[in-house]
Amino acid sequence: MSKYQENRLFIHNTLNRKKELFTPLTPPHVGIYVCGPTVYGDPHLGHARPAVTFDLLYRYLKHLGYKVRYVRNITDVGHLESDADEGEDKILKKARLEQLEPMEVVQHYSNRYHEAMAALNVLPPSIEPRASGHIIEQQVMAQQIIENGYAYESNGSVYFDVLKYNEQHRYGKLSGRVLEDMLSDARQLGRQDEKRNSVDFALWKRAEPSHIMRWASKWGEGFPGWHLECSAMSKKYLGEKFDIHGGGMDLLFPHHECEIAQSVAATGSDAARYWMHNNMVTINGQKMGKSLGNFITLEELFTGSHSLLEKSYSPMTIRFFMLQAHYGSTIDFSNEALGAAEKGLIRLMGALKALEKLEPEDTTGSFDVDAFERNGYKAMNDDLGSPVLIAHLFDAAKYINTTLSGNDMISAAQLEKLKSLFGVFIFDILGLQEFEDKDTADLTEKLVDLLLDIRLEVKKKKDFELSDRIRSELASFGIIVKDKKDGFEWELKK
Ligand code: ZN
Repeated sequence: MSKYQENRLFIHNTLNRKKELFTPLTPPHVGIYVCGPTVYGDPHLGHARPAVTFDLLYRYLKHLGYKVRYVRNITDVGHLESDADEGEDKILKKARLEQLEPMEVVQHYSNRYHEAMAALNVLPPSIEPRASGHIIEQQVMAQQIIENGYAYESNGSVYFDVLKYNEQHRYGKLSGRVLEDMLSDARQLGRQDEKRNSVDFALWKRAEPSHIMRWASKWGEGFPGWHLECSAMSKKYLGEKFDIHGGGMDLLFPHHECEIAQSVAATGSDAARYWMHNNMVTINGQKMGKSLGNFITLEELFTGSHSLLEKSYSPMTIRFFMLQAHYGSTIDFSNEALGAAEKGLIRLMGALKALEKLEPEDTTGSFDVDAFERNGYKAMNDDLGSPVLIAHLFDAAKYINTTLSGNDMISAAQLEKLKSLFGVFIFDILGLQEFEDKDTADLTEKLVDLLLDIRLEVKKKKDFELSDRIRSELASFGIIVKDKKDGFEWELKK
């Protein structure tokens, strides 16, 4: 029996608003589509949360023995400043401001994104398609939707006819919104408006003369609407029906709602069977935003170079901090919370090292390793309960430390199983890595310098016995001291 048959994984399906047993269409194969970044700026906390969330899902499904095809796109065209098909294309705007070719902007920020994801130990997806590389597929899908009667051409643009669609299907089934409310909230259409109704959205937009990113189409030169790329690319790489579609909660409406409508209108299938959404990140209790001055990029976090940060936080601290919350809850970043996560991670990694030092005895210790294994998987099977898994790891860490200090014991069988489970849970599933504890490293450096300064004074007083003792004892910890004319140099030999 493979691991995925032993483990009944439940995930919260946004579509039905309840936890459902995950049953893939064609096991052992699983298809996942996750909306990736629009690459027009440095990656920030808002990028890290979905990436880490779906990395946890990807890792866990792979650990259970599924063969996962994980598609995460890059949006490089068509994402306008406003959700209402208005404003400038985000990438074009950046290109204009920086006087760059739009594809230079795309390449630059895609590279930055990949670097940050690698630092967070987020596995690369199986396929990473770009919207601009799938213009034909998007045109074909828009045409299909027109032919099926759910879209119309207007003045060189193509719009999705939401009212028409809602006669046979339900527009709002994912977000729980009701069309009548949306209509009464929406602004009145102006006379020149190309849309039949304010709730209609663009599948294809006519390009104004100044618009650089443009492609030929049967409707004239233009560019695809933002929502269409994900429907077209998920269909291309995962088929008309696939297992899981993920993304941030901010994409639920309109983006994901529109994706469902497009897929149903084009193929008759609503594409994904399970929809998963990670919750948002706040900073000191506030929504993150450039105008609020609390917009923190990942690089600023890794280097500590933002006025709101008291120090730098390693990528593993950020990852661990996110995993300590359930992906469905909001998380609030503050120096205190990050500091606490860092301490927790150091404790966990310390326990992992301590495991190597434990001497097994003939008697079994107080810790139930089998229950630890069961509970760890149980936590993950309950909608990826990483915070609960981490709590169990802390219990195990406590036992390891108690045993190391001689107040409990461990048998060889217990030790072997605990080592293997720590590896599985910490590295394979949570995706954590050994990390350099910078604060302790800084402190060590200061202490060695202090001790060697004292040794210089000892030498001046001709106490060579004490001076030599300091030198040889430091050498026993791997610290090699070289005396120089005007002082000393030292290095740590590993
Ligand atoms: Zn998308």
